[in-house]
Amino acid sequence: MKKALQLESIATWLPTASKPVIISGPCSAETEEQMIATAKQIAATGKVHALRAGIWKPRTRPGQYEGAGAEGLKWLVQAKKETALPITTEVANAAHVDACLKAGVDILWVGARTTVNPFSVQEIADALKGVDIPVMVKNPVNPDLELWIGALERLNKAGVTKLAAIHRGFSSFEKGPFRNAPMWDLSIELKTLIPELDIICDPSHIAGNRDLIGMISQKALDLDMAGLMIESHINPDAAWSDAKQQITPSVLAKLVSGLVVRTVSSDNKNFKDTLSILREQIDHLDDEIMQKLAQRMKISEQIGQYKKENNVTILQVNRWEEIISTRLSLGKAMGLNEAFTNELLKLIHHESIQVQTKIMNQAEARV
Ligand code: PEP
Ligand code: MN
Repeated sequence: MKKALQLESIATWLPTASKPVIISGPCSAETEEQMIATAKQIAATGKVHALRAGIWKPRTRPGQYEGAGAEGLKWLVQAKKETALPITTEVANAAHVDACLKAGVDILWVGARTTVNPFSVQEIADALKGVDIPVMVKNPVNPDLELWIGALERLNKAGVTKLAAIHRGFSSFEKGPFRNAPMWDLSIELKTLIPELDIICDPSHIAGNRDLIGMISQKALDLDMAGLMIESHINPDAAWSDAKQQITPSVLAKLVSGLVVRTVSSDNKNFKDTLSILREQIDHLDDEIMQKLAQRMKISEQIGQYKKENNVTILQVNRWEEIISTRLSLGKAMGLNEAFTNELLKLIHHESIQVQTKIMNQAEARV
């Protein structure tokens, strides 16, 4: 069932933004120098419409960098003065909202660890009654669409109409190639239920690894998302939070330039020929095959670790024979050529052995 929300699109509250809207900045504001230098380089790319930085960092485990707090907010405001870019940061409670409103933050966002909690979301909504400021709501950590919509509704009921959603992926027990499983279907479902809601993708938190950001960004655009929020830092490897997933402003500029923006006008749909529809299906399936393969190799790593700890040989002939015979008959039943299945299994097995050998030969890491 469609949900009725009173919404104003991003184009109305970020008028300089084109499609896709690009929001970028460091995961965290760390020092004044890091914040300003990063902001200047980002602005110089000419590809970014708003500057982000985490000031209060909700960390899964204590002891990690928890943000610069009120002091950091001053650096973010200074970055705005020096770049003329609108600024955005994460708020998790009413005190954060008040501090941001006083400091002149342009756009707020609610983080994934806050969206899960209706009490916190309501506290933020109450603090925003009568205030005209755009708010972006990240999906909750867990794949619960109702919780995501609920947060948007709470804010909308408080009078916030400048709303967008941010898709940052979901925690999943199954460890795949991504830090957070994208579960694209949930965003598609959100867009179906609230068609006028703009959705921005956060490929950095989905990927957890800088090499996958480009591919996820393209996928998000192909799903007609309104924009991207990408973490960027002058010195990513030295970042105090989310170091592996941050990219330099110059890499960001290249990444954004390389994105293909496709239109989804009804005209275009008419022109879409059978070949491109079939190719899209193949792309989608290949995506899944790669994800599953990466997932399979991760499990091989765990098996390698287990075998190492228990002094078991890598190759277990019986297990390999069982794999070959069950998969071959499964493949056959599915109409796959037997020789092809055989070759494919050999390749996968070979790689799996390599992965396990690497683990076996690794010196014990000291923790
Ligand atoms: C962030 O944007 O740095 C952040 C903490 O994100 P999330 O709430 O998606 O984990
Ligand atoms: Mn981050």
